[in-house]
Amino acid sequence: CGIVGYVGTRTACGKPLEVCLQGLKRLEYRGYDSAGVALSAPGMDHVAFRKKEGRLDNLVRSIETDPLPLATAGIGHTRWATNGAPSDTNSHPHMSSDGKVGVIHNGIIENAPALKQQLMEDGYTFESSTDTEVAAKLIGKVAAQIIEETGTPDIFEALRRVARQLEGTFTLLATDCRQPNVVVGARHDSPLVVGLGDGENFLGSDVAAFVAYTKEALELGQDEAVQITPDSVTVTDFKGNAVEIRPFTVDWDA
Ligand code: GLU
Repeated sequence: CGIVGYVGTRTACGKPLEVCLQGLKRLEYRGYDSAGVALSAPGMDHVAFRKKEGRLDNLVRSIETDPLPLATAGIGHTRWATNGAPSDTNSHPHMSSDGKVGVIHNGIIENAPALKQQLMEDGYTFESSTDTEVAAKLIGKVAAQIIEETGTPDIFEALRRVARQLEGTFTLLATDCRQPNVVVGARHDSPLVVGLGDGENFLGSDVAAFVAYTKEALELGQDEAVQITPDSVTVTDFKGNAVEIRPFTVDWDA
């Protein structure tokens, strides 16, 4: 339902979490039944995450009681359940099997049952009943394959390869703890906007997600993917071909 992404300074700090929670607060007007965040930082062995059914305050209280680590990258989600009842387990983010990739998703992946069946035959197990966890397991699997093939992590390429296999509607964001200075996203029949900062960049399901931080933005076109780092924004199609970007200034007062 609501999506926020952030990558900033190369030093781990509280800002990725702050931006995600603040962005989710701004997106509350859309309605939701659960909320969650995932964080990456240099040296992390797994993506750190927390997710809770219910109001954003539940998530905030949980993090106050049991703090999450400092980070360089973060993604945040408010869920409007479509596949699987509202619950802590079905909330986003969903993790890859190795815990190194965290994924959030808006929309409905229509071919999730077939993809899940295939993954289960390959020995993958699932915690939730969501379509999103299928995407998370698949992105994690492809990310690991790319490392095996090339020796270098490339979560951007992993996301694109999976996006090409998905049917339905999606805005997907992923964070990989092996690339803590990167957040990636992809969209099909569901919106994704990039917020352009100085030494930091943002993603959102709409500009409300980051308008408190920047009014410079660009919109992703249909079947496009994006990688943000603290000082770069790269937009491609799902095959990896560069596409022209269309920056605009948010006219928030209008
Ligand atoms: N289909 C996903 C789910 O049910 C995403 C729902 C949403 O867009 O919030 O978990």
